[in-house]
Amino acid sequence: MKDYRELNRQYEVDVYPKRDVVLVKGEGAKLWDEEGNEYIDCAAGIGVANIGHANQKLAQALYDQAKTLVISPNTFYNDKKSLFLEKLMSIVPKNLTKAFLCNSGTEAMEAAIKFTRFVTKKTDFIAAMKGFHGRTLGALSATYKEEYREGFYPLVEGFSHVPYNNFDKLAAAVTDKTAGIILEPVQGEGGINIGDKEYFQKVRKLCDEKNIILIIDEIQTGFCRTGKMFATEYLGIEPDILTLAKSIAGGVPMGAAVCSPKISIPMSKHGTTFGGNPLACAAGIAAIDFMLEENLAAQAAEKGEYFVSLLKNETLSKVREIRNLGLMVGIEIKEKVQPVLQELLKEKIIALPAGTTVIRLLPPLVISKEDLKTVADTLIRMLK
Ligand SMILES: *Cc1c(COP(=O)(O)O)cnc(C)c1O
Repeated sequence: MKDYRELNRQYEVDVYPKRDVVLVKGEGAKLWDEEGNEYIDCAAGIGVANIGHANQKLAQALYDQAKTLVISPNTFYNDKKSLFLEKLMSIVPKNLTKAFLCNSGTEAMEAAIKFTRFVTKKTDFIAAMKGFHGRTLGALSATYKEEYREGFYPLVEGFSHVPYNNFDKLAAAVTDKTAGIILEPVQGEGGINIGDKEYFQKVRKLCDEKNIILIIDEIQTGFCRTGKMFATEYLGIEPDILTLAKSIAGGVPMGAAVCSPKISIPMSKHGTTFGGNPLACAAGIAAIDFMLEENLAAQAAEKGEYFVSLLKNETLSKVREIRNLGLMVGIEIKEKVQPVLQELLKEKIIALPAGTTVIRLLPPLVISKEDLKTVADTLIRMLK
């Protein structure tokens, strides 16, 4: 057998800190390594595999499409793209009318940033401290963490950051040049910080008054993760642009910037080769159908509550706070998170960090209650 670790170390640009496991197979919320060890997955490819690994409906759709047509130029119509767009637009907030399809979250943010500058004829953006919006230069300019930005300056001009959930600080940062405000409904990378409904409603009103485009980044919160199809449903607001990716196509790379009628862009002003390709669109149709048929949003709400109630029933001396919206769960601890994640891995549970002190759990939403109980019992043992 090849030494996969060694091959990776030899040939991959070394940007990812690695855990010492070679994952080769998945099913539902289970993963297996090359030695046949079984894991409970609470990462889902970082919030991607909401419909579960090796989903049979997704696999069938990919197979059927792969032997039919994988790529079609965006300057032609395509059956799967039209059907996917129709499906996507049937589930997003009602004020949104058109989508630009791309291949990743960061590309969805780039589209949102460019569209916003174009339609407002203004230049500046305000985003939140601890916000994460991607790694390309525009999206990185909206991302807060200095560790990600350092070494890449100058970034795109005109971006500033204000404390999350603080309306006065945000309002004070607005100028005549402010084109857009960029916010996550729940900050994912930033530590599972849950957006305040009143705050978001005030932000919406401010944007209306000052002709500012409100860009809501649901790349991580979207597609049933938080117990609703989209977390904006909790906030009672309508975004001008909604950015999506991660679980949109069940694990196949895809992104989208979904726009209200305010966003009108002339022909040839933006584009992508792969965006909205038939293969990804077929996957997207299968993924959204599965979410609706299985009522995955209700499942996420119920399972999130079940899981968190197991933890909250115990006195956990190492825990500062538990925060969740559906199956987007953050456990803030009083010590560094990495050793805890290593311990969990030894117990065959895969979890994520969010910052330095938050355990982030984003399991596939099809996870069984039995597996959730195992994860909770293990965490309780470790965090007592
Ligand atoms: C993951 C993520 C992104 C970036 O998506 P990529 O597909 O990695 O480019 C942007 N915003 C949020 C909230 C994310 O969670």
